[in-house]
Amino acid sequence: MNASIKQKKTNQSHPSVVIVGANFAGLKAAVLLPKKFRVTVVDPLPWFEFSPNIHELISGFKTPDALRFSKETAISRAEHSFIPDTAETILPEKQTIITRSGRVLPFDYCILAVGGQANMFNIKGANIHAMPFKSVDQCRVIAQRLEELKKKKKSFSIVIAGGGFEGIEALGEILRRYKNVKGIKIHIVEKQNRLMMDASADIDGELRRICAPYPVEFHTGSAIARVWKHSIDLSDKTKLPAQLTIWTGGAKPPEILFNSNLSSSPDQWVNVNAALQHISYPNIFAAGDAAGLHMPLKKQAYHALDMGKTAAENIIRQHAGKPLKNFKPSAKPMLVSFGDLEAFLIDPRIVVAGPAIGLLKEAVFQLVMTELDPSGLFSKAIHSTERVSNATLKLASATSVSPVSLAKLGKVRIIQKA
Ligand SMILES: Cc1cc2nc3c(=O)[nH]c(=O)nc-3n(C[C@H](O)[C@H](O)[C@H](O)COP(=O)(O)OP(=O)(O)OC[C@H]3O[C@@H](n4cnc5c(N)ncnc54)[C@H](O)[C@@H]3O)c2cc1C
Repeated sequence: MNASIKQKKTNQSHPSVVIVGANFAGLKAAVLLPKKFRVTVVDPLPWFEFSPNIHELISGFKTPDALRFSKETAISRAEHSFIPDTAETILPEKQTIITRSGRVLPFDYCILAVGGQANMFNIKGANIHAMPFKSVDQCRVIAQRLEELKKKKKSFSIVIAGGGFEGIEALGEILRRYKNVKGIKIHIVEKQNRLMMDASADIDGELRRICAPYPVEFHTGSAIARVWKHSIDLSDKTKLPAQLTIWTGGAKPPEILFNSNLSSSPDQWVNVNAALQHISYPNIFAAGDAAGLHMPLKKQAYHALDMGKTAAENIIRQHAGKPLKNFKPSAKPMLVSFGDLEAFLIDPRIVVAGPAIGLLKEAVFQLVMTELDPSGLFSKAIHSTERVSNATLKLASATSVSPVSLAKLGKVRIIQKA
């Protein structure tokens, strides 16, 4: 700890905790902290949103209500307070947070779980004309725009910026609903030389093979230079028509982190040690996408949930004078759906595809929503025909997936094995 930083005296019997951001990491931490801690959770959005499945809103396969529930209900069930507001200033040395509406929130401990923001890499016109793809509302707007274009009964072109897993899932949902619409053309622009750079090279070939019968054009190794209202320019001077540009390319840290002296540069995440504790301010923890660990991790919801748990447990331990535990990332595979055409499981040891993987992804969704939604409304709302089997749920809750357990799922084919 920086020697010049004096810590505020902590309230021993009822320490205050402010959690900034309440989606995967922040909500998980909030529900795990016992009543002894006076927990206040600040987030401008009233809903917990299951972002890994928001692409399904594009095709209407899922509705917004299926993907979210009230944060306030979840937090008040844990007997903590929810403030629907944005943290605007964090004063780490004063252990205080000031919100947009002017509330002053002093804290004994704090968890920063603010996630990331759409990164448009300062590309001209992107923030005006491209539609970001990070929230339920943003996907709902994309779905409405697609329906409007379809109703006009004229040819139209869509550009998806980014051929990573988000862009591929968006493409899959567009194909699910619009693959037979006359006059549609979909362009995927990816600056790396292949699709889904995080996965094995074979997925790129597999995706191109699946898309061959459809009006999809891949522009790999191409960068977007400028976004216009109805077109985009690539850096090699190609112009692509774009009645809709969907921006899926990457995330950046929210400005508040650097502005509050919690990260070392605007493009860095919160500087934390392996116990998720800030390297200079021991009463501040970070969890989820906002945490900048020494060994960078994939920004994934399952890591965010586990980090929320570790941050809450470490606050309890620190308050009790016990040593902190390091965060241990689980070795879960990535599950990527491709509309009704395919689904992939990507693990460093194996890549498999098949409809059973789609079921596994659905099982993860049902499991996390049921665990986090204390009202039980989610589990009551899923119709028995949509419920996945107990065996699939069990597999979805495992920390890693073995090829043997995968085989039990039924129809899967191995695309690549280490
Ligand atoms: C399209 C898409 C598909 C994805 N697919 C997968 C997948 O298949 N599997 C997977 O594991 N992960 C997936 N992810 C990644 C996953 O969604 C993130 O890793 C996860 O949401 C991170 O959780 P978090 O709690 O750290 O942050 P977030 O979920 O981003 O939540 C941050 C919260 O902080 C709040 N906040 C932000 N700033 C402030 C502020 N100043 N004051 C108060 N509150 C604030 C926000 O309103 C939000 O509620 C996907 C993401 C996207 C966008």
